[in-house]
Amino acid sequence: MKGRFGAYGGQYVPETLMSALEELDGAWREAWHDPGFQLELKAQLHAFVGRPTPLYAAERLTEHFGGAVIHLKREDLCHTGAHKLNNALGQALLARRMGKRRIIAETGAGQHGVATAAVCARFGLDCTVYMGSEDMRRQELNVRRMRLLGAEIREVTAGSATLKEAISEAIRDWVTNVGETHYIIGSVVGPHPYPEMVRDLQRVIGDEARDQYLIAEGRLPDVVVACVGGGSNAIGMFTAFIEDRKVRLVGVEAGGSGPGRGRNAASLVGGRPGVLHGSFSYLLQDPDGQVETTESVSAGLDYPGVGPEHSLLRDIGRAEYVAVTDAEAVAAFKLCSRLEGIMPALEPAHALHHAGRLAGRLGPDGRVLVCLSGRGDKDMESVDGFQEPAEIEVGRRV
Ligand SMILES: *Cc1c(COP(=O)(O)O)cnc(C)c1O
Repeated sequence: MKGRFGAYGGQYVPETLMSALEELDGAWREAWHDPGFQLELKAQLHAFVGRPTPLYAAERLTEHFGGAVIHLKREDLCHTGAHKLNNALGQALLARRMGKRRIIAETGAGQHGVATAAVCARFGLDCTVYMGSEDMRRQELNVRRMRLLGAEIREVTAGSATLKEAISEAIRDWVTNVGETHYIIGSVVGPHPYPEMVRDLQRVIGDEARDQYLIAEGRLPDVVVACVGGGSNAIGMFTAFIEDRKVRLVGVEAGGSGPGRGRNAASLVGGRPGVLHGSFSYLLQDPDGQVETTESVSAGLDYPGVGPEHSLLRDIGRAEYVAVTDAEAVAAFKLCSRLEGIMPALEPAHALHHAGRLAGRLGPDGRVLVCLSGRGDKDMESVDGFQEPAEIEVGRRV
């Protein structure tokens, strides 16, 4: 079925959006297969984003964990500080091609908002970003960056005032202004064609990393690890390795303050299938089907849903999903900063913690590749303000 990953995905949207999604789907297919579009995208990915990003041997983390060799794919070196720009750039080029001059976006951590504001400045497009007031507080620096780049920020105070509510508001705006507006969703979520389109735009991460890994190590990694919020950096990484059946794919979700309702954002670990934001996928919900509130130290993972393709990968067992807690992620953030001179974002710090666990289990012949999806400057305040339980050791379960 069109726009489905097994039973997951689909287009659960108001009637007024169906023709817009149809138009978008058609325009996207046409653009993606147009060599001219591909050439322009490639040129901008190089000159504006800074691709290809390096593959980095994390020698001191490897030594610290005393097991498998750990490499990092350095998406933190993308312009504006995270992998988000790969997607925002591609969709801005598409909007321009479709003749849409107004862009709307939602943002959680602010990274997708900053990426969208930057491409809108670059291409002279009008930019409005929806953001929850709780996230505006946590990510104040990114709010200022977006304004400097010329975006209008619309504060969303409903519900938990985080990413979920910001997406709902952005969808409402799109329904009202669909004629002249393109909605740049920041992850592999939402109705078809977004999960496919965003995956196609993010797969550059894994395509580059696989080539780089073969050159550096002469073999493929045993495990590829990435953090999962909506799931775009993870799918971007996994797609290149899906046919390599021996490569384990591991997605790491936000374990928040621990297991239990409302305490984390681990949709694939603790949720069950339901509909949110136009798509059928794993979802944190109460027994009545109401969407649960979520909790995570990292705004970028603080989302009750997940991209539909991950739901399929989970069900068929091609990828595994685990949860890492706030405290573990903060400890990994500090460890990576101190040992490698690289401040990771709190989101991929979740993946780094789990990479440490895996490295110990695999032993010195093992090879682990981690997607370092973004840099951590934005998270300084969250880390400084975090009340740490004393006994965290990165790579071990507490
Ligand atoms: C937004 C963000 C994420 C989470 O989004 P995905 O779509 O799951 O990749 C992860 N890492 C960073 C650095 C982010 O900014």
